[in-house]
Amino acid sequence: MRSRYSAFCLGEVDYLLDTLHPSKRQPGEREALLESIKETRWLGLKVLDHKQEGDRAEVEFVAFYEDAPFSQLHERSRFTCEAGRWYYHDGLFLPALKLGRNEPCFCGSGKKLKHCHA
Ligand SMILES: [Zn+2]
Repeated sequence: MRSRYSAFCLGEVDYLLDTLHPSKRQPGEREALLESIKETRWLGLKVLDHKQEGDRAEVEFVAFYEDAPFSQLHERSRFTCEAGRWYYHDGLFLPALKLGRNEPCFCGSGKKLKHCHA
């Protein structure tokens, strides 16, 4: 999950395609990924929950991206392990997380949210 987030930040389309379950790859997937990478500037990632049972795992996370000043993608993702490799299957979108203005900012600046990306 973290490595897929990094790949989104760094624009590593091949890695994103390789870790997407083959049954989920659509025609035009590469173009769609390139487009989304070009248009999104990611600011930070918070992993909220992670469970694994055998060859299945679920990760709940919030990823923040720039959008005057920011928006969030709150998702519960499902992964499966096949032949020793983990694949992203699909994700369930969840409502935006409520953030405390006095909490440390999600971007990792060390400042409070209200003094940073608020
Ligand atoms: Zn910030």
